[in-house]
Amino acid sequence: MFSTSQISVINVYSGKIKKILKSKGVERGDRIRIKKGSKIYEGILMPRIQLGDRDSLVIKLENGYNIGLRYSDNVEIELISKHKKVGKKELKPIKYDKNKPRISILSMGGTIASRVDYRTGGVVPRFTAEELIEDVPELREIANIYGRQVESILSENMEFKDYKKLIREVKKEIENGVDGIIITHGTDTLHYTAAALSFALENLPIPVILVGAQRSSDRASSDGPMNLICATQFIAKSDFGEIGVCMHATESDDYCFIHPACKIRKMHTSRRDAFRTINSKPWAKVYPDGRIEFLKEDYVRRDAKRKLVVKDKFEEKTALVKVHPSISPKIIDVLVKEKYRGLVIEGTGLGHAPSGIKDSLKRFLKSGIVVMTSQCLDGRINMNVYSTGRELQEIGVIPGEDMLPEVAYIKLSWLLGNYKDKREIKRLIKTNLRGEISERSEF
Ligand code: ASP
Repeated sequence: MFSTSQISVINVYSGKIKKILKSKGVERGDRIRIKKGSKIYEGILMPRIQLGDRDSLVIKLENGYNIGLRYSDNVEIELISKHKKVGKKELKPIKYDKNKPRISILSMGGTIASRVDYRTGGVVPRFTAEELIEDVPELREIANIYGRQVESILSENMEFKDYKKLIREVKKEIENGVDGIIITHGTDTLHYTAAALSFALENLPIPVILVGAQRSSDRASSDGPMNLICATQFIAKSDFGEIGVCMHATESDDYCFIHPACKIRKMHTSRRDAFRTINSKPWAKVYPDGRIEFLKEDYVRRDAKRKLVVKDKFEEKTALVKVHPSISPKIIDVLVKEKYRGLVIEGTGLGHAPSGIKDSLKRFLKSGIVVMTSQCLDGRINMNVYSTGRELQEIGVIPGEDMLPEVAYIKLSWLLGNYKDKREIKRLIKTNLRGEISERSEF
């Protein structure tokens, strides 16, 4: 058995294997069961790995890993189900139902819009928004659904220009008069995008809910459909009027949380309930059957008459730096040399950075702004307790209260992009604008 995730693939099995697969009606992408001695393996038939044995069958297991199994006389292969054809689907005509709300799904890519690529064995964003909708027919029972693909990227590749594009598309949908928007997005940087939308879209009249998935649609444990259904139910059956994130609340398929856009973090690499609200509570629990339990009531109610204001500039010369023991001051000096205007430090504990970078920070602060956040995530910055914190404040580092480092990074970049007066920017960084700073820490 071997993992193939790092190895390139070609699509040629030995003649013997090809013959056996043909006799069983099995093709690449089909779900099969392989019995080898007393062991049973179930998964999707993948292409053969280039460096591997041509007599070994490669299957993608439910946990996402590929394994190779050498074919021998004691191996039995059984076809479980045929693969879905990848390609553009014909959309069934939609009958408008005037009793249901109108919801637009904007697709950005990520796992929720992905399938296994049978050429490479990896997962690639392949679905258009229309295909997503076709795959989850329940959505149309809840609302009039429209879908459009804005981009097809993995969220680790997102840049400021992608935020701007998405913001433009959200604005268009609002002008079209929809009742709510769902954005399907990769989970890795979903919290950055949620923050970028929160700052850029002022006076939002309708709800905008971001949805991701940890497991691609090929896998029986895919969480995408339920997350989409819960987001649709939430828009259709509540008066919520903010930006939120809808993801599995537990490892089971029981309910989702609606998380506040500026208080979330992906806290697990693979679990379906990877997202957690930090330093606050989720807004609500949503069950796929449409039941909603609000956990907090102080959300902004939707109001179609509210006039949207778009402020979509971001200062790209903003950096987020995690400090650590032995950090070199040269890292900060490079930012000074490159004329960076904003720096968010992911500091230690209550908001500290090693004294060794203090002089470099002083140089940065001659023309830039520095905000302190904490690697602890939970809790609030307090730079008055230790002398390291006090000294940083004296040179001008601003405590970022209980803002998450990624949110502080997006906020500082947005403030530098949209506001001219440095004093005003410094004031606003400490002011709660979109729920990114809690009044007091309850957690
Ligand atoms: N790397 C993927 C992304 O963020 C992971 C996911 O979608 O869950 O686009």
